[in-house]
Amino acid sequence: MTAHLINGKQIAAEIRENVKQKVEERARLGLPVPGLATVLIGDNPASQVYVRSKQKMCAEVGIRSFGYELPANASQEEVEALVRRLNADPNVNGILVQLPLPSHLNEERVLSAIELNKDVDGFHPVNIGRLAQKGREPLFVPCTPAGVMVLLEKAGTKLAGSNAVVLGRSNIVGMPVALLLVRADATVTICHSKTRDLPAVVRQADVLIAAIGKPEMVRGDWLKPGAVVIDVGINRVEDASAPKGSRLVGDVAFEEALQVASAITPVPGGVGPMTIAMLLQNTLRARELADNAA
Ligand code: NDP
Repeated sequence: MTAHLINGKQIAAEIRENVKQKVEERARLGLPVPGLATVLIGDNPASQVYVRSKQKMCAEVGIRSFGYELPANASQEEVEALVRRLNADPNVNGILVQLPLPSHLNEERVLSAIELNKDVDGFHPVNIGRLAQKGREPLFVPCTPAGVMVLLEKAGTKLAGSNAVVLGRSNIVGMPVALLLVRADATVTICHSKTRDLPAVVRQADVLIAAIGKPEMVRGDWLKPGAVVIDVGINRVEDASAPKGSRLVGDVAFEEALQVASAITPVPGGVGPMTIAMLLQNTLRARELADNAA
């Protein structure tokens, strides 16, 4: 068996195109275009790259972006004051505080300061709480997990009643993915660094979501034949034969998995591009919420 490749790059491009058309339509009708504020604190190089690419993608679809940078030693009060200012700014529909924050800052307090209807990253404790509760609807769902669900849907995966295994329980990926899968009626097992006999648990998975940040840890022979595999991991490994001396791999040994799974996301080009596409979609939605509130 050779698995079907789930092409996140193409699916993300379609979502961006859809957002772009809706933003253009708003502009034609004389309606305000969506605006996203990015808040970058400190000089973490990876965070700088992520924020820049979010701003670039905003520009490509016609979303206005407003970049704010604070020094690594910014105080809790300064950060929260900026968030409050952005909450009050009618041109800003979405507020994205790039994580991780410098360690002296209280992340939960910063995220709680974001107005719920501008929480385009979906990390506000109330949005996450609603995600975990039956019959409640979060205003926004975190972007990477939302992207994972779109990929599963596009691959035609039947989730109801399936055994889904999530590797990782982080606030930004593993836990919200697991909550979304429960909402989609899958039977969900969440694994983490203390899980015993991971290969045996993974072998039960009709659907596997890997989000542990361990290069190619999940081997082909861990997989149940026909499983659908979504590899969230992005890991840089040395490779003397690659032009830059390194390359990106996922948490799953891709070539091995290809022979066993029925469908799989590549790394890069799988989940990665979906995160920003979902952020753009959330920002458009935030603008629409602001329209309705007006
Ligand atoms: P974290 O480091 O926050 O969480 C990793 C999780 O994996 C933890 O729950 C940890 O367990 C678990 N874990 C670590 N080692 C093992 C192990 N040996 N066996 C089982 N579980 C293990 O990572 P993130 O959730 O932020 O990210 C995960 C991966 O996804 C990374 O590669 C990251 O780069 C990538 N990522 C990709 C995104 C995208 O856009 N495609 C977006 C965000 C992340 P414990 O809780 O016990 O410590």
